[in-house]
Amino acid sequence: HTPPHTQTQPQSTPPKALPPKSKTLLTIQNLAQARTHRRTHQNELRAAQAGLDSSERDIMGFKRAIQVFRDNVDKDEVVCEKGDARIRVFVRKRPLNYREQGISTLFDTLTPTKTTLHLHEPKTRMDLTKTIETHSFAFDGVFDEFVGNRGVYERTVLGMVKSMFDGGRGTVFAYGQTGSGKTHTVFGNGEDTIGLYEYACRDIFQHYTTHPDSHSLSLHICFFEIYSGQAYDLLSSRTRVHLLEDAHGMVRIQGLKEIPVTTLKHLLDLVKMGTNTRTTGSTEANPDSSRSHAVFQIRLRKNHKVIGKFSVVDLAGSERGVERGNVGKRERFEGAEINKSLLALKECIRALYRSRSSQSMKQHIPFRASKLTQILRDSFVGARSQTVMIATVSPGSNSVDHSLNTLRYADRVKELRRKGGGGG
Ligand code: ADP
Ligand code: MG
Repeated sequence: HTPPHTQTQPQSTPPKALPPKSKTLLTIQNLAQARTHRRTHQNELRAAQAGLDSSERDIMGFKRAIQVFRDNVDKDEVVCEKGDARIRVFVRKRPLNYREQGISTLFDTLTPTKTTLHLHEPKTRMDLTKTIETHSFAFDGVFDEFVGNRGVYERTVLGMVKSMFDGGRGTVFAYGQTGSGKTHTVFGNGEDTIGLYEYACRDIFQHYTTHPDSHSLSLHICFFEIYSGQAYDLLSSRTRVHLLEDAHGMVRIQGLKEIPVTTLKHLLDLVKMGTNTRTTGSTEANPDSSRSHAVFQIRLRKNHKVIGKFSVVDLAGSERGVERGNVGKRERFEGAEINKSLLALKECIRALYRSRSSQSMKQHIPFRASKLTQILRDSFVGARSQTVMIATVSPGSNSVDHSLNTLRYADRVKELRRKGGGGG
């Protein structure tokens, strides 16, 4: 701020010995100065408030439009499933967190119904009024912010766990933007909320210990990470393990630890250790967890032969692949690898779904397009395999673009259609 102009002495007259300013004059000058300061400050405040008011008015406009939609939406709308039920796609909306709730300009843009998720994209009309554009996507199931991990488990993975003892292979993928709840869903929050993998393992051990053939059965786990096309063993201090590809495009991971587990506690301790290995210290050699895919597998062996398998995959943040900006060579390579593997995954599940649903000629499944899909190949193929994808989305208005990308990705896997309406 420029100080108020209080100089009264003309500049042109040469400075003589001025009489000392009287106390009264100083007081008057100070008062004037203070008043000018106060006025400037008030003007600034008024301008700021005017700005705030208009943005708050905008937010109100968006929220009102969303509320009108919610008041009229069919909450029980259910999409009829006709295709192959061994491939299912779900979407999960996480709640706005404590921090997000404190941001006055942030609002919830997602309206879940039983099998449709509506995303409201804020738009400004030509006349500057505020409106929303709603994109609707149908899935096998939608979890709103009030469904806990137990509820998600029961509807997605429980059936796979049972079939594991009849030779079944089940795989669950968590796909979504970083911070949308992938790890929370599959591995829990490390505190009071346990993940899908733990619910599954509890039930697997329950079946295992009470099984009539339990003397000939054994359980084994592996836990590894795929980062930039390389694999790292999370049960062995993150040592790099080598991927070996045979002539048929099958990939084996040489040197990967497969640890036999006889108690649930032993298993949980090992995974906890692996999860810590995954999240502690982010360096060039050990990237943060949003940049790698984590794969946990539990195998059921009967007299050493694998008869059942269950896999959990916590995918790399989906924004990595599409993110642009001022990034280095390594990040670009990394982003390209993530992009490649997520696209390959989508195309594989999609092709598998189509070939199973149409009963037609065997369709080509493009497993070879990425290391991730090559490694997981045996979990997809075969009559007894089941695949679940859980797409996680953040509800905040600052995540609309990422959420839209996630919903489009998940939608492409099966392309379920709502009654009387398309998606997106
Ligand atoms: P991601 O693995 O996709 O990057 P996280 O699972 O780490 O995201 O989730 C980010 C934060 O949001 C974590 O603090 C997590 O506990 C919280 N969170 C995610 N999903 C939920 C949910 N459904 N309910 C409550 N908190 C959640
Ligand atoms: Mg995570």
